Amino acid sequence: MRIYDKLYCNGTWVTPDGTEQIAVINPTSEETLAMIPAGTAVDVDRAVRAASAAQPGWAATPHTERAAYCQRIADQLSARQDALADLIACEVGTPLRIARNVQVGLPITTWNCMPELVTNTKFEEYVGNSLVLRTPVGVVGCITPWNYPLHQITAKVAPALAAGCAVVLKPSEVAPLNAFVLAEIMEAVGVPPSVFNLVTGYGPVVGEALVTHPEVAKISFTGSPPVGKRISELAARSLTRVTLELGGKSASVVLPDADLHRAVTATVNACLLNSGQTCSALTRLLVSRDQLAAAEVIAVEAVARLPLGDPLAPTTRLGPVVSNRQRERVRDYIARGVAEGARVVTGGVEAPVGLDHGFFVQPTIFSDVRSDMTIAQDEIFGPVLVIIPYDSEADAIAIANDSRYGLAGAVWSSDLAHSQQVARQLRTGQVDINGGAFNPRAPFGGFKQSGYGRELGSFGLEEFFEIQSLQLPPA
Ligand code: NAD
Repeated sequence: MRIYDKLYCNGTWVTPDGTEQIAVINPTSEETLAMIPAGTAVDVDRAVRAASAAQPGWAATPHTERAAYCQRIADQLSARQDALADLIACEVGTPLRIARNVQVGLPITTWNCMPELVTNTKFEEYVGNSLVLRTPVGVVGCITPWNYPLHQITAKVAPALAAGCAVVLKPSEVAPLNAFVLAEIMEAVGVPPSVFNLVTGYGPVVGEALVTHPEVAKISFTGSPPVGKRISELAARSLTRVTLELGGKSASVVLPDADLHRAVTATVNACLLNSGQTCSALTRLLVSRDQLAAAEVIAVEAVARLPLGDPLAPTTRLGPVVSNRQRERVRDYIARGVAEGARVVTGGVEAPVGLDHGFFVQPTIFSDVRSDMTIAQDEIFGPVLVIIPYDSEADAIAIANDSRYGLAGAVWSSDLAHSQQVARQLRTGQVDINGGAFNPRAPFGGFKQSGYGRELGSFGLEEFFEIQSLQLPPA
């Protein structure tokens, strides 16, 4: 077990204000992996003041130089990719191959994108007699969740630094160890002191102190809708800018002319990725009523091809969920689905056979689900897929949009033009068409209660600028 007893501030490792520590639990072994500091409002104040002092110098640093730091961070992450994948597999429970390619691979790509992004950004442009400037918004507080921890940190910290903002990061207390590695990398590549600061701890203490600190100009948050709402309420008091990336309940709409086998298999895989703990997971499978029975058979076969077990074993495709709390929450939803009359096609509430140690949940598929059922409306954030039959294309679109969320979705059809027409009617931030891949340069974010603002690519960078117009006199 490793003990982290320092926070990163002023370009150095500092002793926290308090002595309380938080245990980080390995979800596979249920053992304590590490202890981390439970920061306080005093720690936050110290970090924000440091960031505030560093802000003007960092904003004045040429953007090419800022991007060069991002490049060096990407290089350091690449050098440590295997070790970091191992670490995240242990703290989140993600199977090793996915941990390597997604949990670490995606952040490497995002940091690597920064030089190209800033090169293509118009930091200054003329509009009539005005010179319009993109200036850094100021000190940014980043608050992140545990499910893709390094990716979510990177989606905020990389563009904030590239835009010229100093940052205070408050990572999830559930999976914070990767954030310590990132801070070590910041130190190793010589990011100027106080431009990046790390304060670990609990949300209501560290998170709220960050949101309400008068010297924080912007909060970039990814996490659950209730916390997102709480943050916007607190931030509204001082009109602190906020970007929110919240939950989802994304629909995969399989049109009758689609390749059913491919569409259902891909939906199951996307739903169960990272044990269903993916905000953009395709958790609702919509199929034509006359294809329901065939879809169920394909879905069950797809689940059977995903061995459940130790994330560090090379054959494992599904690991545990992140915590005991998460396991109980998911099991409660499974029980609720049964109570509401949905039909279990595979899985169930009991612990998986042979895996009574570790926070494992059986991958579970419900069929005959109605859109008004709790399991069709709530984000379960576990390995649970609901299959909802539809009676017409209009019905399918209505069901897909019958959600308070609007993060992602998918459309499947043998007619590409037609699938695009359907996709345009879905009220979600992104839609995958016939298996179109996740694009780390495209904007990511939600409609409705999935949040506001966008991350990644040029749209993500824009979130960290204030726009200033200088009206010029006639020549
Ligand atoms: P969470 O909302 O419980 O916690 C997220 C972060 O907020 C953590 O760092 C936590 O400590 C902090 N926090 C908690 N209470 C706070 C408060 N009162 N003030 C300030 N900060 C506070 O979410 P989680 O359980 O870590 O993550 C799972 C959720 O995140 C799911 O709902 C999932 O859909 C969502 N998510 C969304 C996206 C997206 O991009 N849309 C991506 C990943 C996860």
